[in-house]
Amino acid sequence: MILLIPGPVTTRPEVRHVMAQDFAPWDDDFREISKRVRNRVLSLAGGVAGEHTALPLQGCGHFATEAAIRSLTPPGACILVPQTGQYADRMTRLATEAGRVVVPLIVDQARPVDAAEVAAALAADPSLSHVGLVYSETSTGVIHDPAAIGAAVRRAGRRMILDAVSAFGALPLDLAAQPEIDAMVFTTNKCLEGLPGLSFTVARADRLTALAGSAASWSFDLADIHAQAKRDGGGSFRFTPPAQVLAAFDRALDYHDAEGGSAARLARYRENARIVHEGLRSLGLQPCLDAAHQGPIVVNILAPRDPAWSLPLFVSTLKAKGFTISNFYNTTAPSFRVGCIGHVDADVMQRFVAAVDQTLVELGIDIRAAA
Ligand SMILES: *Cc1c(COP(=O)(O)O)cnc(C)c1O
Repeated sequence: MILLIPGPVTTRPEVRHVMAQDFAPWDDDFREISKRVRNRVLSLAGGVAGEHTALPLQGCGHFATEAAIRSLTPPGACILVPQTGQYADRMTRLATEAGRVVVPLIVDQARPVDAAEVAAALAADPSLSHVGLVYSETSTGVIHDPAAIGAAVRRAGRRMILDAVSAFGALPLDLAAQPEIDAMVFTTNKCLEGLPGLSFTVARADRLTALAGSAASWSFDLADIHAQAKRDGGGSFRFTPPAQVLAAFDRALDYHDAEGGSAARLARYRENARIVHEGLRSLGLQPCLDAAHQGPIVVNILAPRDPAWSLPLFVSTLKAKGFTISNFYNTTAPSFRVGCIGHVDADVMQRFVAAVDQTLVELGIDIRAAA
């Protein structure tokens, strides 16, 4: 089965194979894997040794986002969150439940956030200390620009928390050039093509230390994770980690390197997304975004206006042909979502377009005539 969902993604059998063994998480051999992975993550993010620290946390991306907000903003902090889509909504909720004050910046969700709007919002409200940005908004497929928005944040003397969950490993990021980013979060199971169960925050060490005690949670306290890493040399977890997932992630990073790093991966995803966007349009379907704003991670396609359309039936028919896509609507106008990330290439995407073509025929949806 090919997963064309934007995480967890289709992985290589060699990566999954690493999981078929037992690991003792506090054993010295495992500590070496853990230390190596932290260093690899730091360098992939453009982190500066001594300035940044890569901190693993058990669990999914929401956990890392919550930990980053709790650990890198003070209680009661005012955070400007551009409302780019569902993942911005989720960051908003996580921050609010952690006792931070979110000031929403309403934006056009079909295009990248304008850095000038962020600058204006920050200028208008001196109580805002942070900006929370979703790099790749996985609900819409739009890619936002952390370099441009970060520059505005830096000029305004504020700080930034970046949700790079569906971006990191493909889209560019250089933390060394963006000192305003206090935390960047991602998981193993999206563009880095590992298994789910582990998340990371790459954080500024000085900010973590300065804000120690802010988390009001032991499980989500990145300052405590950082302190422990410094004490014991950086290889162990405080609580039982998903050891297999971490070991498999180390292998997934080997394949990321071998492919040519993030730039090569981005090029493959761009081609995947182009094939889906153009291919499904040629079938008479209508993508939600124009090609100019279509990002390489997720393509949303408007549900066809046809009495025979049924998302559950469409999804199950495609599944019988070997492709799993998201089985829920996550945009205001109903659309189905296709993930273009994971261990899939142009050939897979072309076969997917052919499978959609066949599925529409089987469901009796004739939109080509109407198009
Ligand atoms: C996947 C994703 C997350 C985290 O999702 P989890 O299910 O918690 O791993 C967060 N932000 C974005 C933009 C995502 O794509």
